[in-house]
Parts: sequence; structure tokens; C-alpha cells
Amino acid sequence: MSYQIAVDGPGGAGKSTIAKAVARARGCIYVDTGAMYRAMALYLIRHEVDPEDKKAIEEACGSADISIEYRDGEQVVLLNGENVNACIRTEQVGNMASVCSVVPAVRRKLVELQQRLAAKSDVVMDGRDIGTVVLPEADVKIYLTAGSRTRAMRRCMELKAKGEDADLEKVQADIEERDYRDMHREDSPLRQAEDAVLVDSSDMTIEQVVERILSLCR
Ligand code: C5P
Repeated sequence: MSYQIAVDGPGGAGKSTIAKAVARARGCIYVDTGAMYRAMALYLIRHEVDPEDKKAIEEACGSADISIEYRDGEQVVLLNGENVNACIRTEQVGNMASVCSVVPAVRRKLVELQQRLAAKSDVVMDGRDIGTVVLPEADVKIYLTAGSRTRAMRRCMELKAKGEDADLEKVQADIEERDYRDMHREDSPLRQAEDAVLVDSSDMTIEQVVERILSLCR
């Protein structure tokens, strides 16, 4: 059996930074499941699929082939064979990912891919439903969160570092809207698994959070 660490929580809580560091420390692979939903969103945007039209999303998702490769230790997301890592980190793609992740056909397809990856290798996997749905038997489960203001400020700093405009109020409103959608959808809503450990990163450094998780693994 592979060793599995599940990290769930709302957007901007620091999941990917933390999960990457934990994976490095433990010598296992990091699986960013949000990137898969983002690749699907990119496909839908490129094909001008109406975000309001669930049926159209369901039909279109059948022709998006999403897979994962590791190049120099970095996760590369392939959309119909094309490396889309550089195209999926925009707010537009993030919003579409939040919308299309509500559709059960999209989730079924991506959850299957995630489970196949975790069966082959030891993983740290982050997302919204990892401890509850994707890897219910994970060895360690973390629910990582932080207040929405803190998360919005972190996201703004990231956007500004990339030279993009960032309005704090707007970013916070987007974050809260995505939280609501993730927590209230019918299929696999975001929630803390019963056996997950709650970690609030609002007043913790990255190193402190990583150490907390590593000590839980030990
Ligand atoms: O984590 P990230 O912001 O990259 O995820 C993009 C979107 O994909 C989230 O807003 C969420 O709606 C969706 N998602 C999901 N289940 C996951 C990972 C991401 O529904 N396991």
C-alpha cells in the first residue's frame, strides 16, 4: 500500500506551498488536484462553453484528455498532450474551475485519475475532497484553513508579484464566492473529514505548518 497524505481546505490557505514542502521532506510526489480542475476549465474556456450550461460542460469534458507527468520533480499538467502549466493560474481559469468542479461527470473523471496516481506512488495530494472522497483511507489527513481576509491578502501578494493588478476587496469577494460554491455543492462538498486534523495557518509560518504535518506523519 502506498503512503498517502491528504491536504484539504479552501483556496489560498497555503495548501500547495505546504504540500510541496512536505512531499520534498518525505521524498514522495506532490499531486495538485486543483491544477487538473483548472486544466479542464481551460479546455472549456477555449471551447467557449457556457459556464451556466451544466449539460454542455458534461458533454465537453468527455473530449478533454487530462494527464499528469513529472519533469524535474515538478508536476506538469497535460491537456490533450499540451503542457498547460503556464496557462492555468489566472483568475478567469480559477473561477471557471470552481464552476465546472460542481459537475459530477467532471469530478468522476478527475477523481479516477487522482486515485490511479495514488495507487502507484506515495503521495501528498491537495484539494477539496481528498480526505473525504478521493483517498478516504489516507494515512494522514489535514484540513488546512485561514480566514478569508488573510487568504485574500496572500493571493493579492502573489498576483502583484506576477505583475498583475489585484484589488483586495474583489479578490476577497471571489474567494468567499468560491468557498461558498465548494462547500455547498451536492457532489463532494468541501468539508473537514471526521478523522482530519484541523490546522489554521492564519498565524503560523510555512515552516511551522510543515513541521506540524511532518510530526503527525511520524
Ligand atoms: O486549488 P485551486 O484553486 O487550484 O482549485 C481550483 C478549483 O478547483 C477550486 O476552486 C475548486 O472548486 C476545484 N477543486 C475541487 N476539488 C479538488 C480540487 C479543486 O473541486 N480536489
